[in-house]
Amino acid sequence: MTLEPRPGLLDIKPYKPGAAAPEGAVKLSSNENALGCSDKAAEAFKASADQLHIYPDGGATVLRDAIAEAEGLDPERIVCGAGSDEILQLLGRAYLAPGDRVVQSQYGFLVYRLVAMQSGATIVSAPESDYTADIDSVLETAKDGAKIVFIANPNNPTGTWVPDSDIRRLRDGLPEDTLLVVDGAYAEFVDAPGWENPLKLVDDYDNVVVTRTFSKIHGLAGLRLGWMYGPKEIVDVIHRVRGPFNVNLPAIEAGVAAIKDRDFVARSKAHNDRWLGFLTQSIRGLGLEVTPSVCNFVLVHFPETEGKDAMSANAFLADRGLIVRPVQPYGLPNALRITVGLEADNRRVVEALEAFTAA
Ligand SMILES: *Cc1c(COP(=O)(O)O)cnc(C)c1O
Repeated sequence: MTLEPRPGLLDIKPYKPGAAAPEGAVKLSSNENALGCSDKAAEAFKASADQLHIYPDGGATVLRDAIAEAEGLDPERIVCGAGSDEILQLLGRAYLAPGDRVVQSQYGFLVYRLVAMQSGATIVSAPESDYTADIDSVLETAKDGAKIVFIANPNNPTGTWVPDSDIRRLRDGLPEDTLLVVDGAYAEFVDAPGWENPLKLVDDYDNVVVTRTFSKIHGLAGLRLGWMYGPKEIVDVIHRVRGPFNVNLPAIEAGVAAIKDRDFVARSKAHNDRWLGFLTQSIRGLGLEVTPSVCNFVLVHFPETEGKDAMSANAFLADRGLIVRPVQPYGLPNALRITVGLEADNRRVVEALEAFTAA
């Protein structure tokens, strides 16, 4: 007799992270923070070294309090996790059963698919327009039933966003017993008109959860730290399905320091504003289409012409020490996702793409 995992698990294609950069190359494949992380967070991490023999506080109380203070939230309705990936997985573990339907937008973050499949649920994608979530299409797709609707706002890998009024229209149009998960991994980068902090939705509805991460603007991707804000009933359920010590002690300590370091967040935002604009305008100037992004990356589209296509560009950039992200697994075989880097890296990207398009 062979040992069989639960039905459907062998259909899962494991998540493939952005490629690592070989020695001397620049990694622009995983939307990490070009500025690194807060010095204060790094110091707090190092200072935690003499407490490694102690279990962390399973409730991550000091971290929840610091997040609540910074964002004006109720700490009792925050749950921390080992990255927001873990939070997304816990939501699936808690609410999805085999045969359930999960709805996402067409170019939704790949983790939503993993979450659905891990529970034997089916993922259905709602077509987008202009690489942007289309609320009517999500509602139409969810009409036949959806246990969870995942929407990243703004979204990775497209970098696009929808206004708060659209998210509210989505929530109002969904059945009460459908959970809406708004993934705010890049929320701190956005300040466009019509943009509202999605955390407010949690107070206005009893079936919306917002997830956030320390991996992007806080630059702590290696630490694995994320959190969610949700209604009391959902928070209570997630505490039952999470591991008792799911957030490690150095992550709690560094997270507290990071969330308090508003100066580092402001510098990261200012850096991104400047270089996101530079990359977008300069790459468009080469005749390539760039989807308008509010995140710390751009989605660049290439022609299908042999030698000029996305995979040729990817190889050309890699040869010049620039590691970017092919997004074929998202159904975008003609595009590359490029993270905003330091000034010199951004200039190298544009120079390399100029050489590529001219060749
Ligand atoms: C990067 C990212 C996350 C964050 O994942 P972590 O597990 O917190 O590192 C979540 N959602 C989206 C859409 C992302 O791009």
